[in-house]
Amino acid sequence: MNLTTILLLAEAGRNTQFAADHPEIQPRIDNALHIIRQDHISDNGDGTYTVKSQTKIGEQYTVNGVCSCPDATGISPKTGKPLTTFAPKGRCKHRIAVDLVRKAAELARHQQQCLQRAEDQLAFARHQYEAARHALVQAMQRMAEADAAQQAACASCLGLSLSLADEPPLRNAEPAGSRSAP
Ligand SMILES: [Zn+2]
Repeated sequence: MNLTTILLLAEAGRNTQFAADHPEIQPRIDNALHIIRQDHISDNGDGTYTVKSQTKIGEQYTVNGVCSCPDATGISPKTGKPLTTFAPKGRCKHRIAVDLVRKAAELARHQQQCLQRAEDQLAFARHQYEAARHALVQAMQRMAEADAAQQAACASCLGLSLSLADEPPLRNAEPAGSRSAP
C-alpha cells in the first residue's frame, strides 16, 4: 500500500467541511494513520477489512462501510448505554483507516488503467508510424524504379538519335527550288 497516497488522502480529509464541522475527527484520523503504519489492517478480499483493536489485545473489528466498535456505534459494550462521546457519523478510527486504504487502492487501480491506456495509445501511434514509414519506403522505391526506367528510355532515345546522326546524307538530294525551271 502506498503510504504517500494515504497521507495525501488523510490531509485532504482533514480539510473537508465535515472535519471543520466535527473537529473531534482529527485525533481519529491520527489514530487511523497509526493503525495503517502498524499494519493493523488487512483486506479480506470480499470488500471487508479486518482491523485490530488498538485498546484491546486480541480483539479485532470487521469493517464493511460501518464498524462495530463502541466509538462507531456510540454504545458502551459494558453498560449497553449510549456513550457521551463517540465518533461523528460512525467515523471511528477503524472506519477512517479502511476508507483511506480503500481509496488509495482505488487510486492505484485508476493510475494503472491510465498508464495502460497511455501505453496502448503509444503502441498504436508506433504502429501507425511504422505503417507510414513502410509506405514511404515503398513509394521511394517505386520512384527510383520509375526514374531508372525513364533514364533507360532516354538512353535508348539518345542511342536512336545518335544512330540517325551517323546515317550518311542522301546523295541525290537537290537544293530546294532547283527543279523550278528547265
Ligand atoms: Zn471502529
